[in-house]
Amino acid sequence: MRGLDEESIEELRWEIRLHGRGGQGVVTASKILAESAFAERYHAQSIPFFGAERRGSPVMAFTRISEHEIRERSQIYTPDCVLILDPLVMRVLDVFNGLKDGGGVVISTSSRISDEILPDISLTLVVVDGVGIALKKDLLVAGNPVVNIPVIGAFLRVFPHIGIETVEKVISEKFKRNSKRSVKALYSAYESAEVLKIRGKKRAEKVYSKKPGKIWIPASKPVVGVAGKTGYWRDFRPVINYSRCTNCLNCWIHCPEGSIRRENGEVVIDYDYCKGCLVCLSVCPRRAISSEREVFA
Ligand code: SF4
Ligand code: SF4
Repeated sequence: MRGLDEESIEELRWEIRLHGRGGQGVVTASKILAESAFAERYHAQSIPFFGAERRGSPVMAFTRISEHEIRERSQIYTPDCVLILDPLVMRVLDVFNGLKDGGGVVISTSSRISDEILPDISLTLVVVDGVGIALKKDLLVAGNPVVNIPVIGAFLRVFPHIGIETVEKVISEKFKRNSKRSVKALYSAYESAEVLKIRGKKRAEKVYSKKPGKIWIPASKPVVGVAGKTGYWRDFRPVINYSRCTNCLNCWIHCPEGSIRRENGEVVIDYDYCKGCLVCLSVCPRRAISSEREVFA
């Protein structure tokens, strides 16, 4: 991305697109970046884009940073860098659409990223275990790990125009109550992020066959799976311990997604649609449901 390689800078202007899911702090991350850039005396802009406006649904936000006044108010179609707060968003959205050759990709995952899922261009890849850091630093909202700060920390590794101390100041002013944990997560991500240079090469087969730039969310109807297979929205998977379950059906009644079925006299979780909200866990009177972190999150 421009800015990673100082020789390539002709004009100081960067366009950053952020992808994640509702509840992960995508829009907040975009604002923190813009405010930090502004504090560094750049012109900056933050634009949110909501899809289904539900916790867990895909969310995008855009940040423009420039030395000069920014007149555009559009979304960002040819980003210099994409920040991916949840790798599973890649299953429904071409997050790399329009990414410039030589650009950057910052991704929060605990898994190894195969270069086959990356676009066929040269890029700088930054990988950080955002969920792991959020859990370790107790950066949770409603029990869910918040990965936006770790992703910003990882991004700063390859974006030298915003100082980490500046971001620390912005975060401290923004989240007065959670600021210490957020700052710790910021530095932890900055230090632990892995930075890789990827060279583009022509690949025989494209991984993504879907038309780029679209979010595949059907119009909502109050039935199971109205947003397609929503199982990929999950950070945590509820698991039923049948030796404790008395079949009281409390979880079945309360599951907001209708993802718990009754089968052969037992309750069964449909993991294709379960979004991992863990309502079932909290309403189970027998504590028969536990949560396990998803391997890919
Ligand atoms: S976590 Fe439990 S309540 Fe939430 S969607 Fe999954 S099965 Fe339903
Ligand atoms: S709420 Fe708990 S005990 Fe009741 S059916 Fe669900 S898992 Fe079983």
